[in-house]
Amino acid sequence: AKQVGQNHYEFHTPDMNSAAHERLSMETDLQRALQNQEFVLHYQPKIDTATKAIVSVEALLRWNHPTRGLVLPNTFIPLLEDTGLINPVGEWVLLQAACQAQAWIDAGLEPIRMSVNISAKQFRSHILVETVRRTLGASQLESRYLELELTESMFIENAERSIQIMQELKCLGVSLSIDDFGSGYSSLAYLKQFPVDYLKIDRSFVTDLVSNKKDAAIAVAIAALAHSLDLKLVAEGVEDQAQVEFLEKQGCHELQGYLFGRPVSAEELEQVLRQADRG
Ligand code: C2E
Ligand code: CA
Ligand code: CA
Ligand code: CA
Repeated sequence: AKQVGQNHYEFHTPDMNSAAHERLSMETDLQRALQNQEFVLHYQPKIDTATKAIVSVEALLRWNHPTRGLVLPNTFIPLLEDTGLINPVGEWVLLQAACQAQAWIDAGLEPIRMSVNISAKQFRSHILVETVRRTLGASQLESRYLELELTESMFIENAERSIQIMQELKCLGVSLSIDDFGSGYSSLAYLKQFPVDYLKIDRSFVTDLVSNKKDAAIAVAIAALAHSLDLKLVAEGVEDQAQVEFLEKQGCHELQGYLFGRPVSAEELEQVLRQADRG
């Protein structure tokens, strides 16, 4: 028997179905991926709604698998969480992203924030604050240029403890954002106590913003909430100009989506930043 989650065991029997085989083989591969340097970060720009300048990039993890090719995170992040590998991989992501941001500053580019996704398990692990502190030290990146993207679902289990962790992170000087806002179960009563800087409207509300009255109503409500709580509002999944116009009207501060750029390699993003700085 092999322990997978905290409370359940998975038994690998000779008649194990192919999905289980697939999962097991991915797990074995993941164990080697970090030491074999198969993980890479891609970067997607977030632009300032008013100036259209790139003010931030989100680091998005990819797995360059020797036979499967470039694997997207939704297929392997759950496996990283189940196996506990999310902690070492998450530490690598933080350091890699922070060093990249500092490298761009050292190369003379206009400083931008680097946003890093934090998984629920990482958030609950007692070493996160220390990891972020060490990352800042090792990369020499000023803390104001590091942003951590958290999701509402992380806070359900223990809201008081979550607020404490967020406060410790804020003390380091990093920015915090609530990702995928509206898609989880966050209590609005707690939201006002969260020491966060940004709310990111979930893509599910942005996609049909213009054609679907209900999605539009939710986006308007989230925008009003962000403004009244003095939080900056970010929209993800922006793909067309009609969405931009709607979100501009709602006072959305930053926009992210394929319209402004897909996630690309560090080299490609650097070209984009150079061009933007010249223009
Ligand atoms: P997310 O944090 O919500 O990231 C946004 C996802 O939406 C990314 O998918 C991005 O490529 C995609 N996206 C961006 N703009 C558009 C758009 O205009 N249209 C559409 N259809 N999609 C868009 P990706 O890179 O596959 O990442 C999926 C999820 O995996 C992320 O969702 C995040 O939850 C997780 N993830 C990615 N990197 C990391 C990481 O380093 N650590 C952790 N813990 N999770 C990560
Ligand atoms: Ca995110
Ligand atoms: Ca998101
Ligand atoms: Ca999402």
